[in-house]
This record gives sequence, C-alpha cells and structure tokens, in this order.
Amino acid sequence: MDFTVMNEVKINDKVFRKMIDESAILQRVQEMADRINLDYAQKSPLVLIVLNGAFIFAADLLRRLNVGPEIQFIKISSYRNAMVAGELEEVSLGKEVIIEGRDLLIVEDIIDTGTTGEYLRAYAKVSGACSIRLACLLFKPDNFTGKHLPEYIGFEIPSDFVVGYGLDYAQKGRELRHIYTLAG
Ligand code: 5GP
Ligand code: MG
Repeated sequence: MDFTVMNEVKINDKVFRKMIDESAILQRVQEMADRINLDYAQKSPLVLIVLNGAFIFAADLLRRLNVGPEIQFIKISSYRNAMVAGELEEVSLGKEVIIEGRDLLIVEDIIDTGTTGEYLRAYAKVSGACSIRLACLLFKPDNFTGKHLPEYIGFEIPSDFVVGYGLDYAQKGRELRHIYTLAG
C-alpha cells in the first residue's frame, strides 16, 4: 500500500481524511501560474519561498512560470509542532538577498490568521521592495485578521487543520500527494 495516496491517513494520534485531490491541486496551480505569468509579463520577480511548508507548492508553481524569476528561500514560522499558533520566529534570509527595488512575490503554503504574511510584507517594505504580492495555495478566510488579502489564492478552506502537499503535522505528512483535513 502506498501511504502517499490513501484516502485516510493516521499521523501520531490524529486521523486525517482526503480533502483536495492531487489532480485538483495541480489544475489550480496551473491557473495560478497562468495569472502570475500575465501579471509579471514585464517584470522578473524575486520569489521568496517560505519554508518549510511551501516547498512542494512552490516547486510545482515555479516550474509553470515563464517570467524568469529569481528564487530565494526564507524561513519563518508561527506553528511549532502543534496545531495552535505560537510566537513568530525571526525571518532568516541569506545576506546576499537584496530585496531593495525588486518586485517581490512571496510564496506561502497557507494563510491562516495572516500574521506571517503581514510580518513578511512589513519586512519587505522596510527592505525597499518595489512591489509586494503574495501567493498561497490555501487560505482560511474565517481565521484571517490581516490587512492585505493574498493576491493569488489556490483554495479557500475551513479553519480545520490540514496536512499534505508540503504541510506537516509535527513534521510528518509533508510527502502526501493530496491535502488532508483533520477527521472528526
Ligand atoms: P498565519 O501566520 O497566517 O496564521 O499562519 C501561517 C502559517 O501557519 C502557515 O505558513 C503554516 O505554516 C501554518 N499553518 C496554518 N494553518 C495550518 C494548517 O492547517 N496546517 C498546517 N500544517 N500548517 C498550518
Ligand atoms: Mg508556512
């Protein structure tokens, strides 16, 4: 049995059931890429991939872009091996990354409260970004308290905790091909 394609998965103490199929994800990622390709046709964006959760989404999205993006990774997290939001960790970005004057596209796995996104936008603004937009695969509108809505959204989902396609539960489940939601 292939653990990565099951309809229900158990991770530690929790059971998750399939919510968004891989084929639906990839179709939506293509649509997002089409939109981004139009919007950045005259620009070469600096794409900031927010680790760890966004790595699979970003890999699929970026391979569908034709706008010559520069790709960098950034580490920030508000969840620590748990299902509740905690303190924000610091942004860590290589010193060679110059945001000043760039058209910045932040790539996030999921926007929940919006805290991480707002923090990154504020950081990009003081760093002198020319423009700032955010693409997320998942968006939880019921939890959102941020000022800026994500410019590119894959799917709006309920507030329940999800795993798979890069997203983890206690560092597990990132390899799952589909997106799963907490059952019961
Ligand atoms: P925010 O700052 O918008 O509240 O939270 C954003 C971060 O919280 C995401 O990048 C992600 O790491 C984490 N997060 C929010 N909701 C979920 C979820 O349902 N599942 C997982 N695995 N992470 C989540
Ligand atoms: Mg994240």
